[in-house]
Amino acid sequence: ESFQDVDMGEIVMSNIALSRYTRPTPVQKYAIPIVKSKRDLMACAQTGSGKTAAFLLPILSQIYCEGPGEAVSHYPISLILAPTRELALQIYDESRKFSYRSRVRPCVVYGGADIGQQMRDLERGCHLLVATPGRLVDMMERGKIGLDYCNYLVLDEADRMLDMGFEPQIRRIVEQDTMPHKGIRQTMMFSATFPKEIQILARDFLEEYIFLAV
Ligand code: AMP
Repeated sequence: ESFQDVDMGEIVMSNIALSRYTRPTPVQKYAIPIVKSKRDLMACAQTGSGKTAAFLLPILSQIYCEGPGEAVSHYPISLILAPTRELALQIYDESRKFSYRSRVRPCVVYGGADIGQQMRDLERGCHLLVATPGRLVDMMERGKIGLDYCNYLVLDEADRMLDMGFEPQIRRIVEQDTMPHKGIRQTMMFSATFPKEIQILARDFLEEYIFLAV
């Protein structure tokens, strides 16, 4: 078992080496080939399982493979939704680590912080956006975010987002007309638990998904 088992391209491979990850964790071992094969994924995994790299590495690998092009302000090609500012910042830090020395530009937006500064940061271009749902809806309403080219969508800690009452915001984001439809975009959901509400969300957002429990 090694990260070499799946070819994720030079940039990702060298950034894995720089991050000193020697072996994939179980969720990485199983999720990476599934994401690389462009299937939708419903993964049950706990915090600390290495789930962040399990979705970031193959998404970044796909983005590099397709050729990221210039970062276009307001139009991310990948969106990661997370319940809290802390988790959003952790995902953002990992995405910076794995996009080091590449053209891919990650950004993060979350509530409780200056929206003007976050908007100015987005204007400099953004390929991969990490966001909490409330702040993202706020930005969409101001016309500052377009999801027309969002080909990769991740819902991280989906059960926690529902517990925090974010379902209306999540549906606003994912079900808007301009968002590429399921089956066209690639969608990954991560959740520690798999109750009825998460099953319904998976049915609504995912296309013929693979279910993974680690
Ligand atoms: P996560 O579950 O994604 O929040 O990751 C938990 C912690 O494990 C983070 O600090 C990661 O940087 C670290 N981590 C993730 N994958 C690996 C790996 N393959 N080898 C060593 N550390 C890892």
